[in-house]
Amino acid sequence: MECSEVAPHHQKDSVKVAVNIRPLITPELLLGCTDCVTITPGEPQVQIGPHVFTYDHVYGSKSSPSSLIFEQCVHPLIDSLFCGYNATVLAYGQTGSGKTYTMGTNYTGEANCGGIIPQVMETIFKKVDALKDGTEYLIRVSFIEIFKEEVFDLLDASHAALRLDSGYVAKAAAPSRVPIQIRETVNGGITLAGVTEADVKTKEEMASLLARGSSSRATGSTNMNSQSSRSHAIFTISLEQKKVFSASDKLACNDYNILSSKFHLVDLAGSERAKRTGADGLRLKEGIHINRGLLALGNVISALGDEKKRKEGAFVPYRDSKLTRLLQDSLGGNSRTVMIACISPADSNAEETINTLKYANRARNIQNKAVINR
Ligand code: ADP
Ligand code: MG
Repeated sequence: MECSEVAPHHQKDSVKVAVNIRPLITPELLLGCTDCVTITPGEPQVQIGPHVFTYDHVYGSKSSPSSLIFEQCVHPLIDSLFCGYNATVLAYGQTGSGKTYTMGTNYTGEANCGGIIPQVMETIFKKVDALKDGTEYLIRVSFIEIFKEEVFDLLDASHAALRLDSGYVAKAAAPSRVPIQIRETVNGGITLAGVTEADVKTKEEMASLLARGSSSRATGSTNMNSQSSRSHAIFTISLEQKKVFSASDKLACNDYNILSSKFHLVDLAGSERAKRTGADGLRLKEGIHINRGLLALGNVISALGDEKKRKEGAFVPYRDSKLTRLLQDSLGGNSRTVMIACISPADSNAEETINTLKYANRARNIQNKAVINR
């Protein structure tokens, strides 16, 4: 295919940050919570109490259809993917802030689901159908989670069978749940040793893999959300484009010219601090590990966003966590990254919401404008 897309490394921003404010949900309304977050009209700017933060985009579900996030933040990354560049979308925020809803990681196959992953699947297959340009497109899917600084395969069939029989406790402790090792290739690519990579030909096949892996995610109950996800879930779509040259094609030095790229869609673990979850023992340990990944991610993205430091060849701390190691070849460099910070508007969540907004703001290094009307 022809790539009209400007190479991402020539673009000013390889990392973009959006904020998605979900509406107040029933449990919050029943508790009498009020909405304490406002969007500055006409600006990608969020105000909470005396704090004002600016991003690339701000979405409030009262004013923005869910497809707008996809069109503005994610669709351009699919175009990059077809031009051979890796891409990553990350959903960040406290448990209950709407990460899974926004990403569509809990997709069960119903039509018109607004989540990002179902829309990505739809768009990729539509694009392949429309191109019909003599290129052979191979699409593969893997789905893993990082739980307590270990990587697990959510598409491992033997693990799924075990989970059905014994539920969460057996799953977390299951001897057959063998962690996967992260490997680096000679040219700096990241691979997972022995991970299930399923070939997919249709969006329905891809959706059923998403549903299968979603049901395998490690979840445990905390005070914040009985179904809270304590792991980072990474759904990866790999695209291999094989251009078959005709015998008369002077450019052809091999039979094939292969272009490979991958798209990581990441539903991060809850960002709340361990003390707020009322966690102790095992759950607290999970909290510490989770924070390590999120801390490292914040440091990596902020290092990538600092153009001056990057030009000086500043160190990017990819190796500080499994999450950042795994995403190493898909954050920075030629890749494009979008972080979607998800927040609840409820006053009861204000402290965590401010933490999320600060984290997302630091990730982007955007200069905040002065407080307006305050
Ligand atoms: P997280 O994955 O961050 O823990 P969830 O995605 O599970 O949060 O969302 C928590 C609750 O809020 C769910 O009941 C979900 O249906 C609801 N929710 C999240 N985002 C929205 C939204 N934009 N509109 C309506 N309900 C939402
Ligand atoms: Mg979730």
